Amino acid sequence: MIQIYQPQAGKEELKAIKNVFKSNWLGKGPITDKFIKEWQSRLISDKIDGIAFASPSVKQLITINSCTEGLFQAMDLFNIQEGDEVILPSIHWVGAGNAIMYKKATPIFCDVDKRTLNVTVKHIEEKITNKTKAVIVLHYAGIPCDIEDIARLCKQKNIILIEDNANSPLSVTNAQNTGTFGDLGIWSFDAMKVITAGDGGLIYAEDPKNIEKLKKMTYLGWDSSSSEKSVESKWWAYDVLVPGRRSIMNDIQSAIGIEQLKKSQTFIEKRQHIHERYSKELSKIEWLDIPNEIKYYEKSSYYMYHIQTKNKEDRDKLAKHLRSNDIYTAFRYYPLHLIEYYNSNSILPNTEYAANHTLCIPLHQSLTNSDVSKVIKTIKNYKK
Ligand SMILES: *Cc1c(COP(=O)(O)O)cnc(C)c1O
Repeated sequence: MIQIYQPQAGKEELKAIKNVFKSNWLGKGPITDKFIKEWQSRLISDKIDGIAFASPSVKQLITINSCTEGLFQAMDLFNIQEGDEVILPSIHWVGAGNAIMYKKATPIFCDVDKRTLNVTVKHIEEKITNKTKAVIVLHYAGIPCDIEDIARLCKQKNIILIEDNANSPLSVTNAQNTGTFGDLGIWSFDAMKVITAGDGGLIYAEDPKNIEKLKKMTYLGWDSSSSEKSVESKWWAYDVLVPGRRSIMNDIQSAIGIEQLKKSQTFIEKRQHIHERYSKELSKIEWLDIPNEIKYYEKSSYYMYHIQTKNKEDRDKLAKHLRSNDIYTAFRYYPLHLIEYYNSNSILPNTEYAANHTLCIPLHQSLTNSDVSKVIKTIKNYKK
């Protein structure tokens, strides 16, 4: 069976977990701090007119137990409320829609580019009203969207920009990592992502004050600075400053994440190689469109590879043909504006085209050359 996504973890991760066990500290601690530092040194976060090749500060980063929880925390952090509108592409993670609904705010679904499935500045601009409070974008399949233009627009209009960076952990546009263009960027390390920690996530905030707030919000609302002061009198007492939840990553997860991050270059190169093979071979098929162009100033994390059948009828049939040959495929992400619960009246022609024609085919670092050959051959055989 050839899976569409698959993690690759081995003896290095096991050894790291063993060391955490030996330390007797399994919770959030020094290894999680180290994980944040490793990310800090890997990311480049110049602001649009900033200095070249600057890393963010550790004060701009915090770990979180999942990207979904990060999206919910973001809604709390920016005090999104009833009456507020939040714009997001309809082709988006369902957790983003739920986070908006949780605050009783209104999700405003916008269209995407028909081929790349990425949102553009034009699609967002069309939906802006005087109620627009925030925008949540993602970088589909790992390829950066028009993030510089979108960031500029949001700054101009005083709209909060949140980047769901789950597809694009190490993607770059113009020498800056995705996830660091807006007010907040959120990574995911769940089991199906390019870099996994089993579960987990990372948040970047442009303003370090938001990280200070998130520290409390993600840990029961405790005032971490008060513990020292209260030692003298009632050392068991604590103060609660906000009704926080408990949304942290522990040292077992972080230990896995650190080993994965060490391998990330190899993972991404492997994925890139498969991506290039697919593009070369599949672009010869006349009944397919191959829309995965990466511009010269961009780097992808190669999270997904999608193809589009020219005829709508072929998409599901092709998926079944591949499945009967033990190859799993899928379409990501089912358009949110079609979900009844979200109560949207948007008509989004490109999104609907994409939803009917697109298929994501296997892309992960465990695929062998013969797996890739089999996928290509099976697709080619579909119309024979
Ligand atoms: C996987 C994914 C998420 C969810 O991440 P979790 O860490 O599993 O909550 C969010 N957004 C996108 C685009 C994803 O691909």
